[in-house]
Amino acid sequence: MERQLFFSGNEAIAHGAVRAGAGFACGYPGTPSSEIVETTAGLKGIRSQWCVNEKVALETAVGASLAGVRSMVTMKHVGLNVAADPFMTLSLTGVNAGLVVVSADDPGMHSSQNEQDNRTFAKFAKVPMLEPADSQEAYDFMAEAFALSEEFDTPVLLRTTTRVSHGRGQVLPRVPVDVPRREYTRDISKYVMVPQFARLRNRLVLERLEKLRRRAEQSPLNVLEAGTSDFGIIASGVAYTYAREAFPKAWFLKLGMSHPLPYAKVVRLYEQVSRVAVVEELDPFFEEQVRALGLPVVGKAAIPWDGELDQEVVFRALEPYLLRKPPRRRRPVLPPAPRSTDPPKPAPGLPVRPPVLCPGCSHRSVFSALRRRRLAPMGDIGCYTLGALPPLLAMDSCLCMGASIGMMAGFNAALGEKAAVGVIGDSTFFHSGVTPLIDAVYNGVEGMVVILDNRTTAMTGHQGHPGSGLRPDREQGPSVDIQRLCEGIGVRCVTVDATDHAALDAAVAEEAGAPGLGVIVALAPCVLTSREKTGEVVVDEDRCNLCGLCLDLGCPSIAPGDDAVSILETCTGCGLCVAVCRRGALSLVEAGSCP
Ligand code: SF4
Ligand code: SF4
Repeated sequence: MERQLFFSGNEAIAHGAVRAGAGFACGYPGTPSSEIVETTAGLKGIRSQWCVNEKVALETAVGASLAGVRSMVTMKHVGLNVAADPFMTLSLTGVNAGLVVVSADDPGMHSSQNEQDNRTFAKFAKVPMLEPADSQEAYDFMAEAFALSEEFDTPVLLRTTTRVSHGRGQVLPRVPVDVPRREYTRDISKYVMVPQFARLRNRLVLERLEKLRRRAEQSPLNVLEAGTSDFGIIASGVAYTYAREAFPKAWFLKLGMSHPLPYAKVVRLYEQVSRVAVVEELDPFFEEQVRALGLPVVGKAAIPWDGELDQEVVFRALEPYLLRKPPRRRRPVLPPAPRSTDPPKPAPGLPVRPPVLCPGCSHRSVFSALRRRRLAPMGDIGCYTLGALPPLLAMDSCLCMGASIGMMAGFNAALGEKAAVGVIGDSTFFHSGVTPLIDAVYNGVEGMVVILDNRTTAMTGHQGHPGSGLRPDREQGPSVDIQRLCEGIGVRCVTVDATDHAALDAAVAEEAGAPGLGVIVALAPCVLTSREKTGEVVVDEDRCNLCGLCLDLGCPSIAPGDDAVSILETCTGCGLCVAVCRRGALSLVEAGSCP
C-alpha cells in the first residue's frame, strides 16, 4: 500500500515546495500562513528564514531566484500589501529560477484586520494564480507553480484561505522533481526597470497574459466535471468543496489555475446547463469576469460577499435560484487579446541622447571600483540607476525602492557566498533600505552594501531627507548619521570620501574580501549642488592610444578623437579618468591653469 501522509495545507505547501526542488523559503509570519516556513525549516535541502517584513521577504526570494534557486515566499493576505511594490514590478522583470508567492487569505477575519481578496492581486499584477482546494492539491500545485513560473518567466501567486491552510487531509507523496540550479546571466534589459526597459517588458507581460490564458484552457488544474442536473457551478479553492457537497449532482468548472480565467472552458460549461452560479468567498472575482462575457450568472446576489461560506450557506443561497425559470440563453462575447501601444520612436531629426550620469558624479567612482570586483551589483532607484546603462554596465538589477539589500541577501544566501553587492542611494536607504539591513544582520548574511551618500534626493530635484535634515521650507532640522545608524544595528561600517578614488577602491577591495556583512558609505555631495570645477584635465596625445578605459567610465566630458581622447568644457575635474588611465596620458591640473 502506498504511504499516505496527513498534512495541514500549510505543511503540504512546505513539503510540496521541497518536492518541487525549492532551495529557498522565506516569509513573514502571519495567520494563516505561518506554519509553511516553520515546516520547511525542519526539512532537508531548503534554506528557510524569517524576514523583517513581507517586502524584504519577497526581495530576498527574488535575489535567490536570480541566483538560480527555486524560491518560495509566504505571507498572509495583508502582507502582500507590504510586498506590493516589488510584486508589481517583479511581474515585469520575471524570474530566473521559479518563484512562488504564497498568499494566505483570511475570509471571516479570524486573525486579521481586514478580509481583502488577494485574487485581485493576480489580476492587478497580470500573473498566474493557483488555488488549491485541499492538502493534496496544496502539495501537488507547488510543482505546477514552479514549472509555470519558469516556463512563462513570471512569479506565480499561490492563494489559499484559512480552511485550506489549516485544514488537514491525506496527502499522497509524489516522486521528487530534479531541478539543477539555473545559471545567473546578467541581463539589464530584463532586470533593470528603468523606463526604456520597463516599457518593453510591459509589452511582454501583456503577451504573456494571453499565453497564460491559453495554458489555463488546457490546464488539467481546470476541470469541467460532468453532472446529472441542469445546473453548473464555477468555483475554486475551499468554496469548490462546499459547493460540491451542497450540490452533488451539479456540473462544475473547478478552477485550480484561476487566473487568467479560461473563457472557453466557461463557455463549455454554459453549453451543458441552462443555469450557472459562481460560488466564491469574498469578492465577485469570477462573477464579474463571467458577466463581462455577457453570460447570465448568479453569484453575489445570492451568496454572501463577506465572511466564510460553508455547504449550508451555499445550499440555502442557491436552492431558490434552482426553482426559478432558467435565464434566456445568450451568446458569449469574448474580449479581444490586449493590444500594446507602438514602441516610442525618437522625434525625426533629433539626435538620440541616452541618459548618463553627470560629469564628475561621485557615483561613477563607486561603480568603477565595483566593476573591478567579480560581484553582481544589485541596484536600486535613484539617479545612480543610470550606472546600469552602457558603457558603465555597473548595476545588474533595479526592482523597486529599497530592493537592493534584500536581493543581495537572497542572492548570497542562495549561493552561500559573497557573490552580490547591494548599491543604494542615501535617500532610498532612508526610504526602505534600513529594514533589509536589519534583516541581513538577523539572518547572518555574508555581503556588502555601498550607500551612495550625496546628501540629497538628487533625482527628483534635490529635496531633503533624514540624512541631510533639510526640510521642504529649506529649514535645517536634525539629521541622522548613516554610519552610526549602521553601527547601531551591528553592522561594520566605514565612511569614505567618494572623491578619493584610491581610498574608495581600497575600501571596496577590503570589504569584498572580509567575512560577514559590511557597509561602505561613499560620501560626496552631488556635483549639481556644488557646481564647482576642482581641476582641469590635460591630455598627452602622444601617450593616449585610445584604449577606451576612460571612455568606459561613461563621463559625457570625455570624447574619443582620431588620435587621442579630448576633454570637454563640462569636465568638473573629478580626476576619475586620470586615475583609471594606465598610460599616464591624463593629468589633473589646477582649474584655470590650462592655456
Ligand atoms: S585611458 Fe588613457 S590611454 Fe586609454 S583612452 Fe583614456 S586617456 Fe587614452
Ligand atoms: S575629470 Fe574626467 S571623469 Fe571627471 S568630469 Fe572630467 S572628464 Fe569626467
